[in-house]
Formats: sequence, C-alpha cells, structure tokens
Amino acid sequence: MSVPAQQSDRTVPPSVDAVIVGAGFSGMYLLHKLRLQGLTAVVFEAGTGVGGTWYWNRYPGARVDVESLAYSYSFSEDLEQEYPWQKRYPTQPEILKYANHVADRFDLRKDIVFRTRVSGATWNEDDRTWLVRTEHEDAVTARFLIMATGCLSAPKLPEIPGIETFKGTSYQTSRWPHEQVDFTGLRVGIIGTGSSGVQSIPVIAEQAAELTVFQRTPSYSLPARNRPLRDDEVAEMRANYRAYRQQQKESGAGVPVVVPTKSALEVSDAERDKTFEEAWESGSLVNLLSTYTDLATSQEANDTCKRWIHRKIHEIVRDEQTADDLCPEYPFGTKRPCLDTGYFETFNKPDVHLVNLQRTPLVEVTEKGIRTAEREYEFDVIVYATGFDAMTGALTNVDIRGRDGLSLKETWSAGPRTYLGIGSAGFPNLFMITGPGSPSVLSNMIVSIEQHVDWVADAIAHLDHRGLRTIEPTPAAQDEWVDHVNLLASYTLYPRANSWYMGANVPGKTRVFMPYCGGVGEYRKKCDDVAAKGYEGFSVAA
Ligand code: NAP
Repeated sequence: MSVPAQQSDRTVPPSVDAVIVGAGFSGMYLLHKLRLQGLTAVVFEAGTGVGGTWYWNRYPGARVDVESLAYSYSFSEDLEQEYPWQKRYPTQPEILKYANHVADRFDLRKDIVFRTRVSGATWNEDDRTWLVRTEHEDAVTARFLIMATGCLSAPKLPEIPGIETFKGTSYQTSRWPHEQVDFTGLRVGIIGTGSSGVQSIPVIAEQAAELTVFQRTPSYSLPARNRPLRDDEVAEMRANYRAYRQQQKESGAGVPVVVPTKSALEVSDAERDKTFEEAWESGSLVNLLSTYTDLATSQEANDTCKRWIHRKIHEIVRDEQTADDLCPEYPFGTKRPCLDTGYFETFNKPDVHLVNLQRTPLVEVTEKGIRTAEREYEFDVIVYATGFDAMTGALTNVDIRGRDGLSLKETWSAGPRTYLGIGSAGFPNLFMITGPGSPSVLSNMIVSIEQHVDWVADAIAHLDHRGLRTIEPTPAAQDEWVDHVNLLASYTLYPRANSWYMGANVPGKTRVFMPYCGGVGEYRKKCDDVAAKGYEGFSVAA
C-alpha cells in the first residue's frame, strides 16, 4: 500500500467534465466510474488521504456497525473476492486500510487533490458549466458538480460558553489526531453519548485514571458481539455474493433481514421476550429493529421494546440511579441506536461517573474543567463527542450558487429541498450522493452510495449520448418528492425524538425529518423508474 499522497506538487486541471467534492467512499467510486465512461474528473479532498468519515473519525473504539462483508464495495467482483476482511465489524484503521487499498488498486490518487477544501461553486448559464473555487484559489470549470461530501462530515461543537478557556487538552471525536492519544493516569471528561461517545467511552475508561461522562440524552445500544470472521463464512459469502448483493439492493436498509410479519402487540410477552433476546444476542441492530412490523409506527408496540431494553440495562448496570439515567425515554430507533463493546458495563467501574445533564445542566467549560448547575469538575482532558450538522451541513457550507445566483444555503433555510435526494431545482448539473430526501443514513451507506453513483453516471451518459447538456429537477417534481418524504416520516415515530435526523441537535436548524424512510428497495425502484421514463421529473435540455 502506498503512503497517502502529500501532494506538494498539486496539479489542478483548469477544466474537467466533473468536479467531485470529497474522497470518501462516494467520491472514490464516482471517480472510478466516471473514468470508465471516458470522462475527466478531479476530486477535491480537505484531508491528506482518502476514506472520508473513516479518515476523520479516528477516536478510540471507532468501528462500523454494519458487517464488513456487507459494508464493502460491490462494483468490482475481484475486489469483493480477494479483500481479506478479518473481523465481523472492522475498526476504523481496518476500514481506512480498505479505502487506501481501493485507491491504490484503481489508481485513484492521481486525480485527487488533497488538502483542498472547496469553498464555492457558481453556475454559468452562458456556457452551461460550474466554476468551482477552492480555499487555495483554484478555479476549475466543470460540466458537472458532484457533492460526495457525506452525511456526517460537518462537525459540531456544543454551544457551551467557555470552551476556548480550558487549559487542559481538548479533543473532538470527529477530528481526532492521527497519532495515538494516551489517557493513562489522566482525569477525562467526555460530552456526548451518541455512537461516537458510546464507542469511545469503554476504551478511554480502560486507560484513564477517572472518566466522567456528561450525558444529555441516553442512547439505545446493543452489544456488537464482534469476533474474527471464520474462513467458512467468508467462503460462503464469496460463493453467493451476487445473490447477496441483489438482496441488499432490495432490502429496507441495505442489509438483508428476515422481514417481520407480526405486530409486537399480537404475541405473548414470553414470545416477544424470546424474539428480542435472540436479536440482542445476534449483535445486529437491523435484527432488533426488524423484529416486528410496527416498532417504527406504533408507540405501544415500540414501548414493548423500550421496556425490554430498559430491563437489559438494569441487569447490566449495578447502581440503580445510574441504570435509570442510562435508560432512554424516546421511542427505540427514532434516534440512531448504537452497537457497543462493553458500554453499559463500563459504568460499573468505580472510576467512571455519569452526570445526567437533564438533572444538572451543563453551565460552562472553565479553565479547569466543566461546571454544571451543581459543581465544577476538574479534568486534564475534555473529549467532545457532540456530533455533526448532519445531512445538510457539508452541502450548505460550500457557497453553491445556481441559476441567477440562487444560493443553496438560502434556498434550504427552511429545510432541504431535493428531488430524490439527488438534485435540487435551480441547480442544473449539480448532483448529491446520498443527499437529504434519500435513504442514506437509514441504510448501509455503501449500498446507497453505489446506487447513487451508478444512477448519476447513467444520467450523465444519457445526456452525452443525446447531445444534451443540462439536467435539473423541475420544481413540481421536487415539491411532490419533498411532500412524499414528509408524508412517509409522518406515518412513523421518527418525528417524536430530538434527533439529528430532524436537525434538532443544531440550534436554529429547521426541524424536518431529512432522510427518506421508505426503504432502499422501494427507493431504488423509484429512481430506476424515473430514469426509464427519460428522467421523469427532471428537465433535460441542450
Ligand atoms: P450524535 O449521535 O449526534 O451524538 C452527539 C452527542 O452529543 C449526543 O449525545 C448529544 O446529546 C450530545 N450533545 C450535543 N450537543 C450537546 C450539548 N450542547 N450539551 C450536551 N450534550 C450535547 O453524534 P455521534 O455520536 O458523532 O454520531 C453521529 C452519527 O454518526 C451516528 O448517529 C451514526 O449514524 C454515525 N456514527 C456511526 C458510527 C458507527 O457506525 N459505528 C460511529 C459513530 C458515528 P443529544 O442527543 O441530547 O443531542
């Protein structure tokens, strides 16, 4: 494996067919795919290497919670057959190694400009191109602008006064240093108990002299039961990969599961307990989420699962008050649940403390540590596991100007408006990979990424074969799609939680459920149908 490019010799072409923003799993596959179609492309990447989310999120314990054999590219059968995954759920370094392997194998780096953040892009109606600008004042003209910027890539620090005054060391999980951080003997405070907190807390607790966890909202979490992959299961998957990939495409979340047929309310308590127990034992989030038909839609059904998980937490955590504090009240699955390795058990350690911010709110960060309404805690290190401006942040952080100077950020001020989560009216030849209004974060991201990349590449080929130059959603199709996405969400319990799915974690962000929750199989059918009907709902022009 070659070392990620440092690129002191940056070469930026003045003009390409496509500018791709981001060299994560979306950007890498896009580059490969467009090249195969004979197009020229350049990828701008803010980091020094490929991998996107797996490049930035290097915090201790970072790990994927979809199984490696499913969370991997399907576009190359050779890659699929040869890549030696070792673990059921690989760690961040293992996934980053895979990303680097892909970059080398398909010779991607030569068209990636690292250390370069895209600052803005302006549509030029006269010659039907985008002018893309970077922080280094590069200016590239492109027929297509493709935002492969990821859904969880614009980090968010909490809005707590005094963060800059802390005299110790601060870390953010989503911007973790490349070198190992040693917590041995240190007093550590961590704010945030979403997936990043849940994964890092047990690992930090192993080293730190003392760890204090500041929790605003508890998370539902299941034990991952991670383990090395057995040779026989890898061989079996490799023998059946095509059929498995097809099942992924047709599934609800990009991971095939046994589709439930019963309501949680139509079975006996004993049967339900047994079903939940089996899902818990399986170490798979989708298994638990798909135990019954109505966990996502009926409060009463969901309550059965909630109560069952509360019982599990109480069985694990010895201190009653701590166990109570760790039990979420919002419906299971309406905020992103987590997979953990020893999370709840960690709170049995004498040197790990939980501070429930709902009882004692956080007041400020001080020179010495963190002050709550009750007292000041002194720390050597503070870790912020406080999440992202999800789904829209990475898109609206770039000053994108469409027709007549239309600003994407302003157009989306009351919530994102897209057609299929792929394009937005007023922004010709702008594509988003896993944009808001697509299944994205409710799915195995790699499955959704590949579907979008293939769809976008086909759309470009459609234009090129017909001598057409622009494609853009019609306002009517977009309105209809936004309404449809909202309607589906309204049938579910999702809007009942203050989640990043709803934009609720960012003060001032409009509350609207952003992903499409109808499942990747249904969504794919819709996208294929749109393409088959000559890109219905898009205006396509010369
Ligand atoms: P997150 O789920 O948004 O969690 C952020 C945490 O910080 C929440 O507990 C939040 O509390 C807390 N917080 C934010 N602002 C705060 C404030 N001002 N005061 C106190 N607490 C505050 O972010 P994340 O853990 O980075 O995860 C984001 C998503 O990335 C996940 O849901 C998942 O989709 C993905 N992810 C996946 C994996 C994996 O697959 N293995 C790992 C990491 C992340 P509230 O809940 O009250 O807002």
